[in-house]
Amino acid sequence: MFTRISDKEFEQTIIRLIIGSSVILYLLMFAPFQKWMVSLFPAFVFISLGLALHVYFNPGNYLWRRMFGQIIDIGSISFNLFYCGIAGGAIIGVYQWIIIGNGFRFGVKYLLSATVLTTVFFSIVALKSPFWVEHKFFSLGIVSAQLLVPFYFAVLLKRLQVANKNFEQLSLYDGLTGLMNRHTFDSRISSETSRLKRFNTPFALALLDIDHFKNVNDTYGHLAGDIVLRKIAEVLKKSCRDGDIVARFGGEEFALLLPGNGRRDIALAGERLRMAVEQLTIIVGDQPQSILVTVSVGIAYWNDRFDNSSDWIQSADKMLYEAKRQGRNRVVVTPIPSSHKLIA
Ligand code: GH3
Ligand code: MG
Ligand code: MG
Repeated sequence: MFTRISDKEFEQTIIRLIIGSSVILYLLMFAPFQKWMVSLFPAFVFISLGLALHVYFNPGNYLWRRMFGQIIDIGSISFNLFYCGIAGGAIIGVYQWIIIGNGFRFGVKYLLSATVLTTVFFSIVALKSPFWVEHKFFSLGIVSAQLLVPFYFAVLLKRLQVANKNFEQLSLYDGLTGLMNRHTFDSRISSETSRLKRFNTPFALALLDIDHFKNVNDTYGHLAGDIVLRKIAEVLKKSCRDGDIVARFGGEEFALLLPGNGRRDIALAGERLRMAVEQLTIIVGDQPQSILVTVSVGIAYWNDRFDNSSDWIQSADKMLYEAKRQGRNRVVVTPIPSSHKLIA
């Protein structure tokens, strides 16, 4: 329930109720009384509650619902401005609240649509309402501000979105290779593990470690080592199918989650990766010859005896250790779990 309440659109419906009710109370107290004001409050609350309930029971991005919300908000402010003369002038700032709120919650597109709606609605007010016709220059000033300020906000918002995207990239992906980082991989394998505990389907985890990588760094330098890491990451990405997950697991280690394969397929997939790295020709700078690298691969099937993702990782790690022990540049796979024998 609380996740729904923290939903941006639901939050907006609550803020609509608070601001809308305050505006109506203010008008009832300070604007010249008009009959329609009595029905304004229940009508507004009825529509806002209806929208709040719709958002609560149907979360998601409904364009029509967001646009309807904008029309209700901007329309009701414009209606009040039309009839409440100077007392209505005080609520003009609510337009900007609506525009900025829409922009920051839903993006630049919604900021711009709210700006256009505000300009159209307020222009009608300025051209038709006696108070605003009488104060032409005041109206003109407001129309220009309504148009210009949001464009400035749109520019700032766009910059913020770019910065957020960069932060997201930095927090989810590894800077050197562009693969998922360890943190992201851990959350992917944890959610995969929870799913597998409910629906046990064939799934394998491969851990891949570059052989004698320290020698590469010692012989060619760290920058060359970095290039090797990048090249291997590229090869892994290229060799993977849709649905496979590839991550940089640690310094010179990579992890892959490979869904839905039988034993032969998985062993072949591991062998394909191993050979792809072995055949890589990496030439760095003015080095006369290419750097040759190999990898050892440990693969563990998901097994319903595992309690959590750490058990699974540990099992793959044991296989990796075994591959190193047997002489490196090879693939070692756990025996297939009995629950998967049928598809092996
Ligand atoms: P083994 O075959 O047993 O795996 O030997 P190894 O030399 O690969 O293993 P070891 O764990 O001793 O060394 C790993 C090296 O990886 C040491 C570290 O300097 C290097 N390394 C880790 N991260 C990076 C990185 O981002 N860039 C570079 N250039 N080197 C890295
Ligand atoms: Mg290592
Ligand atoms: Mg190594």
